[in-house]
Amino acid sequence: LLALQGATVRFGGRAVLDAVDLEVAEHEVVCVLGPSGSGKSTLLRAVAGLQPLDSGRVSLDGRDQAGVPAHRRGVGLMFQDHQLFPQRDVGGNVAFGPRMHGASKRQQAERVQELLDLVGLPGASRRAVATLSGGEQQRVALARALAPSPRLLMLDEPLGQLDRSLRERLVVELRELFGRLGTTVLAVTHDQGEAFALADRVVVMRDGRIAQSGTPLEVWQRPAGTFVARFLGFEN
Ligand code: ATP
Ligand code: MG
Repeated sequence: LLALQGATVRFGGRAVLDAVDLEVAEHEVVCVLGPSGSGKSTLLRAVAGLQPLDSGRVSLDGRDQAGVPAHRRGVGLMFQDHQLFPQRDVGGNVAFGPRMHGASKRQQAERVQELLDLVGLPGASRRAVATLSGGEQQRVALARALAPSPRLLMLDEPLGQLDRSLRERLVVELRELFGRLGTTVLAVTHDQGEAFALADRVVVMRDGRIAQSGTPLEVWQRPAGTFVARFLGFEN
């Protein structure tokens, strides 16, 4: 579904994404792990069309996306800081994508209800965003990202600001949800427990490059080198 070939992004001469090759198959759930500043968000932004490449290419379904604007790529991105529209209510946030795609008022309302049910917030449509808890806001952001049925759903630290028990519960819910919908997912996290629980495949980034890519078990049992091993918390 998704392929990056030699994808490179430079800021001030420094390669923040450094010739990254990555493929994501349909229905696959891939989690990107890596320290702060390793280029995880930049990777997602490049795929979404929000960050132009300096060289290399991004293709979706075999089609080069160079010059294709973000809203035409059919990918959903949930930002690190989720960025809900504060002046719209919950329903207005979730309906945003479908509305942009020309859905009727009635289709929008149905979609909102369906997705709020899905993320466990039925009946929250009329609530003001500011009255929601952090966890509820993240669920709304997730519903908003899912609303246009993107062929690729990208999540940047989707559970970032939540406490551990809520994260653990949501990871299980998300895993079940993606399996049920057959969603293709590229998610960023710096929490390895989360990545291992959610992913079919884990990608570890270091300084704009992919240090390792493998199933959670492979990465856990055979970390590729000392960087990955240390990042996973092994002594040597
Ligand atoms: P975190 O885990 O902290 O979110 P990250 O892996 O998502 O980190 P990125 O946001 O991709 O990291 O940033 C990678 C590097 O690129 C960082 O050093 C960051 O400062 C730099 N960077 C990102 N965007 C820009 C920009 N627009 N201009 C200059 N430097 C940038
Ligand atoms: Mg980031």
